[in-house]
Amino acid sequence: MNEKLLEIKDLHIQYVTDEEVVYALNGINFSIRRGEAMALVGETGAGKTTTAMSILRLLPKYTGKVKQGEILLEGTDLLKATDKEMQDIRGRRISMIFQDPMTSLNPVIPIGKQIGEVIALHHKKMGKAEVENKVEEILNLVGIPAHRKVEYPHQFSGGMKQRVIIAIAIACNPELLIADEPTTALDVTIQAQVLKMINNLRKEFNTAVLLITHDLGIVANFCDSVAIMYAGEIIEQGTLEDIFDHSRGHHPYTVGLFGSIPSISDHKDRLSPIPGLMPDPTDLPKGCKFHTRCPHCMEKCKEGEVPTFVQGTHQIKCHLMQGQATDGGV
Ligand code: SF4
Repeated sequence: MNEKLLEIKDLHIQYVTDEEVVYALNGINFSIRRGEAMALVGETGAGKTTTAMSILRLLPKYTGKVKQGEILLEGTDLLKATDKEMQDIRGRRISMIFQDPMTSLNPVIPIGKQIGEVIALHHKKMGKAEVENKVEEILNLVGIPAHRKVEYPHQFSGGMKQRVIIAIAIACNPELLIADEPTTALDVTIQAQVLKMINNLRKEFNTAVLLITHDLGIVANFCDSVAIMYAGEIIEQGTLEDIFDHSRGHHPYTVGLFGSIPSISDHKDRLSPIPGLMPDPTDLPKGCKFHTRCPHCMEKCKEGEVPTFVQGTHQIKCHLMQGQATDGGV
C-alpha cells in the first residue's frame, strides 16, 4: 500500500464554448497508492466525473481544456502522452466502470465476445483459444457461469450486466479501476454483492480503486481514504478515520454533507441536504467557493485564496482551521 500509483497535481479544467467558460476543476491535488480504495464524494456538478474523465483523457474533444496541472501515473504525465500511448493505458493500466450498465454494453454482441475484444486489443500476440480461456476465467471471477459467454446483454439482469461491465473493466488486470457510481442503477441487494466483488478483486490483485459516490455508507464500508469535492475543488481529504471521526475539526461543507458526521461503527447511508445551491460554475464567487452557503462565513472568506491546513493525513481548506493545523500552502 505504499507505492504512489496516481498523483494529480494542481489540475485545472475548463469547458470552453463561444458562450461561456465552465470552471469544472480549479486546482485539485490528490494521490492514490497501489491497492488503495479512495472515494471522491460530492454533489452533482462538483467535478467528480470530470476528474475521472481527465485521468482517462476522455474529456469532450472540442470543449474540455486542461488549463494547468499534471496527472502522473507512476511519475509519467498522462497529459503529455500521445493518443496511441493513452489507448494502450486505457483498459490495460486504468479502466473505468460506468454508472449505467444498461447503456455501457453493445446489445448485439455476445458478452464473451465483448470481453474477448478488450483482451485481444491489449494482448495482440494472444491466440484465439487463449483469449477464450481468459474470458472464461474472468467470467468465473465475477460470478458468471462461463457457458453464458454466448448470451447477449438483454439476457442478463441489471446486477449481472454490471458484473459483465466489471469483467470488461478488469479483463486486463488494470492497476487502477475508476468506478463512477457503479451501483446507482442497481437495487440495494445487488449493490452489496457488486461492491463486495470489486473489493475482493482489489485484494486479490492489489488494484487501486477510485470510487465516485455520494453514498457515505458505501464510503465507510469500502474505502481507505476520502476526498470531498465542492465547486471543482477538494475542500477536505484524509483517511476514513480522519473524515468520519466526530471529534476532529471538519470543513463546514463536510459537516453539512454528513448531517452529523457518523462514526465508522455508526455510519449513515444518506446525505442530509445543505441549504442553498452550489454556485454557478460559469460564475464562481471570489474567495471560498462555499462562502455563500457557509454558516461561519467571515469577511476574509469572501476574498482571496483560502489556504489548505494540514494535520498528518488530514487536509482541510478553510479559514476556521487556522491555528489548529499547519498551512499546507496548497
Ligand atoms: Fe466557511 Fe470561511 Fe471556511 Fe469557507 S473558509 S468554509 S466561508 S469558514
